[in-house]
Amino acid sequence: MAEKKKKTKIVKRIHVDADKCNGCRACEVVCSAFHAAPKYSSNNPARSRIRVITHPLKDIYLPVYAGEYTPAECLGRNTYTLDGKEYDECAFCRASCPSRDDFKEPDSGLPLKCDMCESEPDLDEPMCVKWCLVDALTYEEVEVEVDEDEDEVRIEDVELGLESLVDKYGLDKVLDTIARLSKKD
Ligand code: SF4
Ligand code: SF4
Repeated sequence: MAEKKKKTKIVKRIHVDADKCNGCRACEVVCSAFHAAPKYSSNNPARSRIRVITHPLKDIYLPVYAGEYTPAECLGRNTYTLDGKEYDECAFCRASCPSRDDFKEPDSGLPLKCDMCESEPDLDEPMCVKWCLVDALTYEEVEVEVDEDEDEVRIEDVELGLESLVDKYGLDKVLDTIARLSKKD
């Protein structure tokens, strides 16, 4: 089999240092304001693409970024003990999933996903990183090697994703949200 051609690309990522997080929730506020339509017209942490899991009595403050939507909840309900603190498995999960309310638009129920604050022009760093005054969040860009065709958008994947959203939320809600997002800037 012919070897796939490689290229490099820049991957944006945010390093989370949970030990530094104090649960101030500035990241949630600024994320929701940045993504409001129009921008900064409102803020509602329930619309944020980063959520901070807080258990003050256990000294747990864990920022988590919204990742992919999943139509089905998993069966895992393990617990993990790290540095003497006990976490549910769901605490680390980034999915917008049926088993919890995180990472869903409160009005429509549609899934939310961190987009690294993509905007024109580009920001120097994402808003949540900028406003985390204790440096619990650090922005990084790293160069990685990938297959040459990795970034090509596969239309079947897009259709599959849209179909599952329409099945779950109905065509009207999905169309309303696309219309609202297209007016965002
Ligand atoms: S802004 Fe920083 S310190 Fe405040 S909750 Fe978010 S991650 Fe934690
Ligand atoms: S990077 Fe931007 S979109 Fe992602 S959680 Fe932070 S503020 Fe929200």
